[in-house]
Amino acid sequence: MDLLNDRGLPATGIRADTRPQLHTAPWLVPVSREPIRDGAVLVTDGRISAVGTATELLGDLRRNGTEFGEHAWEGVLMPGHVNAHSHLQYTCMADVGQGVYAGFEDWSRAFQVVYEEPHDWGASAADGLAIALAAGTTAISDIVTDTEAFEVLKHGQMHGIAYWELMSWLTDEWMSRGRSETIARLGTAPHDFLGLSPHAPYSLDTEVIRDLSTLSEELGVRRHMHLAESAWEAEYTLSGTGQLADQWRNWGYSEFAVLRAGGTQRRPVAYAESIGALGPDCHIAHGIYADAEDRAILRRTHTAVALCPRSNAVIGLDEAPVAAYLREGNRIAVGTDSLSSTPSLDLMGDVAALYALARAQGYAETDLHARLLHAATLGGAVAMGMETGDHRIGSLDVGALADFAVLDTLAPTAHDVVAALVEAGDGHNLATIISGDIRWQRTI
Ligand SMILES: [Zn+2]
Repeated sequence: MDLLNDRGLPATGIRADTRPQLHTAPWLVPVSREPIRDGAVLVTDGRISAVGTATELLGDLRRNGTEFGEHAWEGVLMPGHVNAHSHLQYTCMADVGQGVYAGFEDWSRAFQVVYEEPHDWGASAADGLAIALAAGTTAISDIVTDTEAFEVLKHGQMHGIAYWELMSWLTDEWMSRGRSETIARLGTAPHDFLGLSPHAPYSLDTEVIRDLSTLSEELGVRRHMHLAESAWEAEYTLSGTGQLADQWRNWGYSEFAVLRAGGTQRRPVAYAESIGALGPDCHIAHGIYADAEDRAILRRTHTAVALCPRSNAVIGLDEAPVAAYLREGNRIAVGTDSLSSTPSLDLMGDVAALYALARAQGYAETDLHARLLHAATLGGAVAMGMETGDHRIGSLDVGALADFAVLDTLAPTAHDVVAALVEAGDGHNLATIISGDIRWQRTI
């Protein structure tokens, strides 16, 4: 399958002007270095070819006699938002996300009823992509459950990884047909922009999760898993009891090895590590119920966690240990999750929520703004293995893909600009640029 070969290249017909394009702004926030007042980026063939002050870059262009186009933005120019966990196909389930729930099982019952109704998943995913684009998103870790939504990132010319989600597989059935069906779905050639998502530690048989790690290595793709999202997950993996265990037994999966054995005596993160489900080629979503030992495992295995605070609040879950993750130095990224559990697909809404959580949890360091902005950009790129190489994103650096957003949160000093970006919340995007193409612009 020739799925994503053209990802990262300009969309045919989008770019009218093939000359280098200079984008200037009162503030440039590259993330990989200090903000630049009256800054500029030069974009050549979809990549950033120079970063500096507007005066420097204009001087170079004129000295060299280079013809160029110019865009003077009245806002803060920053890397495009990298959404490290979403399900674009559930955009049509926004009504579920408007509810109030008492916990994961309560929400998942409401979700399941609506999910079972007929939907045009492809159209719903495309709607989600358009909404995310308008919010300043340039890359997404998109979890895909239904075939119709599989190529939305490709068709929408959005960067990121489409993770094919697997759940409800017993080992025998997986080995007899699930594995081959999955290989057919992803194609056999190794590639950078597809992934596998074993849904969660309780929704797949142990050997299936283990085999998905083997398969991802064989195919050369990354992995992504929901982990430590439900309070009942620990009971499930420790002793094979509790609400989640009862639910999966009722659904006919009492042959799952964990349920048959009466648990593993391991908490979810330790269980995931023991069956090879963690590692630098993998990131997890949520990580709410992660104690000090769990967080140490995530650090030891170089597994990033995509924090989704607004989704967690809608579902009625506890707060993730944001301050502890920051203090202890875990790799963190930010995700919105889907509209079925969050009010918007604007990542900056979750950044502001994380700021409030970290402060409330006692994180008093002055680096909080910068670290959360890093999590929403370069942190997401690291979670997807896209911080280096030909398709690198997440910061405004020479050689990176020219993915950026312009926000209307101007402030007088470098510190205030970063603080304003982080604390402003959603609804502040003015323009979204992907591979140098202006893909969305606010109209007054
Ligand atoms: Zn999710």
